[in-house]
Amino acid sequence: MGKIKVGFGFDVHQLKENHPFVLGGVKLEHHAGAYGHSDADVLLHAICDALLGAANLRDIGFHFSNKDDRWKGISSLVLLQHVVALIKEKGFTIGNIDAMVCLEAPKINPHIPAMKTYIAEAAAISEEDISIKATTNEQMGFIGREEGVVAYAVCLIEKE
Ligand SMILES: [Zn+2]
Repeated sequence: MGKIKVGFGFDVHQLKENHPFVLGGVKLEHHAGAYGHSDADVLLHAICDALLGAANLRDIGFHFSNKDDRWKGISSLVLLQHVVALIKEKGFTIGNIDAMVCLEAPKINPHIPAMKTYIAEAAAISEEDISIKATTNEQMGFIGREEGVVAYAVCLIEKE
């Protein structure tokens, strides 16, 4: 009987005017974008934290410090590749990933197929094993005021 483990991840970034908005590896056309040390891809960061958590490998800040210039402006798809290599070193493969993005605008549903393609390629898994969902915050709080964007992710990893 193999071993299965679950992991949970959360991330939040500020939205700034006239800043690029990268989400799930996709560059969104929008008047504002997520701000941070890397490309501030909130969805990929939540997924990375879920995978690291499942494998008991601490968190994304431990592996990719925001004080380390190696990660400044880097594509978070590269961080995801790195995380997948770490969990593979521990003998795990990814079962599935389920993620939720909370933001007011823009609508991301048209971009979800492309996000799944990028994530599947970076994590070397099937698009069928990646679920990405989106919701607004019903105009309430910092998400509702378009001051920030939040993502949550859970994943399952397994080993023989
Ligand atoms: Zn982040």
